[in-house]
Amino acid sequence: MGLHAARRLGELAPDAHIALVDAGRIGNGAAGRCAGFAIDLAHNPRNKHFAEDHKGNEEEFHVNSEGIAYMQSAVNELGVDCDWDPSGKYHAAATSRGDRCLAEMSEALARIGKKHSWIGKNEIQSLTGSRHYHAAIHTPGTILIQPAKYLVGLMHALVDYVDVYEKTPVTNIDYAPKFHSCETPGGVIRARQVLLCNAAYLTKCGFFKNTAIPVYTYGSMTRELTRDELAQVGARGPFGVIPAESFGTTMRLTNDNRLFLRNVYSYARGFQSHQSDVDYARKHHQIAFDRRYPNLSHIGYEHSWGGLLTMAHNGGMVFGQLADRVFGAAFCNGTGVARGAGFGKALAELALGRTSRSIDILNNRPKPNRGLPDWITEIGVRMTTKYRLIKAGKET
Ligand SMILES: Cc1cc2nc3c(=O)[nH]c(=O)nc-3n(C[C@H](O)[C@H](O)[C@H](O)COP(=O)(O)OP(=O)(O)OC[C@H]3O[C@@H](n4cnc5c(N)ncnc54)[C@H](O)[C@@H]3O)c2cc1C
Repeated sequence: MGLHAARRLGELAPDAHIALVDAGRIGNGAAGRCAGFAIDLAHNPRNKHFAEDHKGNEEEFHVNSEGIAYMQSAVNELGVDCDWDPSGKYHAAATSRGDRCLAEMSEALARIGKKHSWIGKNEIQSLTGSRHYHAAIHTPGTILIQPAKYLVGLMHALVDYVDVYEKTPVTNIDYAPKFHSCETPGGVIRARQVLLCNAAYLTKCGFFKNTAIPVYTYGSMTRELTRDELAQVGARGPFGVIPAESFGTTMRLTNDNRLFLRNVYSYARGFQSHQSDVDYARKHHQIAFDRRYPNLSHIGYEHSWGGLLTMAHNGGMVFGQLADRVFGAAFCNGTGVARGAGFGKALAELALGRTSRSIDILNNRPKPNRGLPDWITEIGVRMTTKYRLIKAGKET
């Protein structure tokens, strides 16, 4: 969100001094380590009540599509290389429960008039090379990218008009009438306007206190497969599969021939996850690998990691003006690639006094609400995620 906000500020106010400040390295956080599905459709078509909210779906589609178009312009106009792949996403089922989820999803997509097609057993097995799947639905509007490559490439494309400060955590912000002061370990940044795009950490900056539910999800990736190993996978080429059941396993074969798997959601007290959490997730990733490619899974993974998803009790998101010359966009609620681009772009436009349909939509969306006390939320999330993981069965 922050990188796209900085890009748009630079485009609309080329004489402004723009500082993009990140506590870590750009491309090294959740946005860079995600699965790289830039999704046009509203999240989540598998939800029971998805199709009822026709207006919400159309609005979300509008913002996401604008985000994807903005990302595409970075590829085409700024030369950002990110393995851009418009092949869409496959929601694949491995169990009868998965089949039911697909049927519900297809019905919901038909009701809201969104294109999708059924993919039979032979086709999904030949696409992925895995006999694990037996049916799928393809939705065409999703773009697959290599997210870290995209973010780092975009950061480099902005250097002429954006000063980037990496490894620079803002430890305190003093909101003041003329200039806001952002303290960092190396000095103070005085800014006329501040745009906060720092996910759950926005709640530590004086706004929406205690509303963020810190949930992590985890990914693992193999090394680059050799030609023989790739032949064992037997896929037709790079692909992106999303589980039919929302607690199942997301999988990609990347452009550089690595298998990527994602599953497990868990509560992360204080927004922190630990090595033991990564180890736990990695075990589930190995089971998922064994199920999908039993002849190859002995090679294991080269990397495993987790990343923060910021959820709200009511599914709300932060967008808009938070105080005098302070603006914010945060809380991805699970998916933030297309949204991130759309929210960031719209936030910069809002800060510069522009209007747009996306700004109107986002300004009218529910904001994150304060839920139950943390300890109750933690118990609830831990129990629900464990239960849902078990219920997803072989979809994981
Ligand atoms: C394994 C995994 C797979 C995923 N797959 C997908 C997917 O395929 N598609 C999808 O749409 N979404 C996916 N997601 C979710 C996606 O990663 C997030 O929605 C997205 O990263 C949200 O972007 P963001 O800019 O809001 O927040 P973040 O990416 O979390 O960025 C927030 C930034 O704020 C910085 N920050 C925080 N506090 C401070 C401070 N005090 N000072 C300075 N900087 C600060 C952080 O360093 C960070 O870089 C996935 C997530 C994970 C973990």
